[in-house]
Amino acid sequence: MRSDDPRIERHEIDGQEVFLPSDEAWQAILEAGTLDERPVGVGRLPEQFRKLAGTVPGLAVALGADPTPDKPWWVYHVVRVGDAWCRVQVERQKHACGWDGITGNHRVMAIYLGTDDALTRMQRHWGAPQAKCPRCGEALDRPARWTAPVAT
Ligand SMILES: [Zn+2]
Repeated sequence: MRSDDPRIERHEIDGQEVFLPSDEAWQAILEAGTLDERPVGVGRLPEQFRKLAGTVPGLAVALGADPTPDKPWWVYHVVRVGDAWCRVQVERQKHACGWDGITGNHRVMAIYLGTDDALTRMQRHWGAPQAKCPRCGEALDRPARWTAPVAT
């Protein structure tokens, strides 16, 4: 499959061209194991990312090209914050008030790998507004750009 397929959205996130395939396009990509002849991630990671995204409302999986042509696609979890897509590390957090849910941590350098300068890109997001606990409105214990309920 080619990345210019109409079932694949193209966005720029942190200066990197990133692709968001539809469910149908994902199936074809995973079956082929490649997109634009570039391998899709390593081992079962893309499938695991997809599986998790399927259970968490608002969570999507994106592919980002490495600057080196033959390297596998980077696989990212992304969420919508306002009118922008943000890359996040998905975490589970429990809060003192009893809230138990999913949060997206934007203060992790690993999620910026594949961009031109992971450290600088992370630092740019460091001071972004943090999501509060959806139940009590207080600060969460770990950095969170976004929150979601746990699937029941
Ligand atoms: Zn709380």
